[in-house]
Amino acid sequence: MAKPYIFKFGGSSLKTATCIAGVVDIIAGFEKPLAVVTSALAGITDLLVEAGDERGRVAEIRDTIQQRHLETGRELGLRSETLNDFEAYLDTTLDDLAAAATGNGRTRDLVLSIGERLSTNLLAAALEARGIGSRYVDSRPVIRTDSHWSEARIDLSATHRQITETLAPILDEGDIPVVTGFLGSNEAGETTTIGRNGSDLTATLLGRCLDANEVWIWTDVDGIYTADPRYHEGAKVLPEISFREAAEAAYFGATVIHPHTLWPVLETEVAVRIKNTFKPQNGGTLICAEPKQRGKILITTSVEGVAVITVGGYGMVGVPGVAATIFTAVKETGTNVLMISQSSAEHNITFVIRDQEVHETVASLERALSEWIEKDHLIDRIRVVTDVAVITVVGENMRGRYGIAGKIFSALGRSRINVIAIAQGSSEYSISMVLKEADMRRAIDAIHGELDEENHGN
Ligand code: ADP
Ligand code: ASP
Ligand code: MG
Repeated sequence: MAKPYIFKFGGSSLKTATCIAGVVDIIAGFEKPLAVVTSALAGITDLLVEAGDERGRVAEIRDTIQQRHLETGRELGLRSETLNDFEAYLDTTLDDLAAAATGNGRTRDLVLSIGERLSTNLLAAALEARGIGSRYVDSRPVIRTDSHWSEARIDLSATHRQITETLAPILDEGDIPVVTGFLGSNEAGETTTIGRNGSDLTATLLGRCLDANEVWIWTDVDGIYTADPRYHEGAKVLPEISFREAAEAAYFGATVIHPHTLWPVLETEVAVRIKNTFKPQNGGTLICAEPKQRGKILITTSVEGVAVITVGGYGMVGVPGVAATIFTAVKETGTNVLMISQSSAEHNITFVIRDQEVHETVASLERALSEWIEKDHLIDRIRVVTDVAVITVVGENMRGRYGIAGKIFSALGRSRINVIAIAQGSSEYSISMVLKEADMRRAIDAIHGELDEENHGN
């Protein structure tokens, strides 16, 4: 049998019945073997999160989700028999919302899983209605994870076995498996989720385990752009980009793919393509190991909602173990550090974390460093600056080339934007800077404008 393609449709491709009908057209016009992965309809996962956070609203949210899916089913023109089946599925699935009352990690994941189960079942019904042989697959028994609720990690060997056992026979029969993204289950069979926006990862897992031809991630933009096209008019779509560049860009805020999307296919021949559901005729962006135009591009990305923490003191200089103590204290809270920069002249260690993790992290640092602060006076401050953003420029282009950092900082200087901290990725293909959140858009425009010439001049 030919190698299958894997298509993943994000929530932005599944907003309305019209969008879903477009998705059905795309699938209908494509060759088989094909497997499809689906996210929840746009906005549904956010509603499910709200149901978990505000238990008083569970009944109202249940109603909203039910109406939205039923209306979408009706607008899709499903026959009454199909619609009745879907309505029954909707009812039983929504019963899991009752778990929101318990409010722990386990029940939260069960509640979050509702969105993908409904959207995927609905898409499978819409495909059947068009006479396209397809099979709804709940991925929970297929994607095996640990029990790290909300951010569960994949057990690759069990997942590989289960994907092959479950999906290969469906492909062999000439049908299209239509699979829930984002969901898995642990060894005990309890529902887990693999991180917000995680359906991208479900798709690449299928790509790897089914030895796919390519994985196509369908979304609402033409591909990966040189900057977020929502905010930066001059941003241009990139025809090709390397795995490493895409992974780095995603990590530093290019939200078009989830940062964990690419690991399953890194050591494989399986390339990933980003395509626009609303303009399927466009080529999109190919993410692969060896792009033909290797090393020509620079992407400017940003992460908002972060804070800078600086631990400083003249006594810190040359004292062994300070950095280790700081980052052990940070790690104990489970906080993810986005970027680190050290300045020996000012005797500072500076790092960037998410806003919502500041409180716990500072408390942990104060505990771990209390002796050095109070008794030995080696450290005299833990300073927190909030309302900052990290801007990163990514490109293999930067390695061993002179002048790019200079251009970036001149552009910021001309726009009178102050840089709080700088770090270069050890890989030498990214450079990150911290600045005030209020300056972010302007800074990206300035940097992006300056680098545009680099992108086209060589
Ligand atoms: P989906 O629902 O398909 O998963 P997402 O909202 O997760 O869609 O991802 C698509 C969005 O990613 C785009 O609408 C775009 O605004 C945003 N985005 C951020 N950075 C980039 C970039 N560099 N290139 C393309 N899109 C980007
Ligand atoms: N529906 C989930 C979310 O909104 C997963 C995804 O869209 O990939 O996070
Ligand atoms: Mg997404």
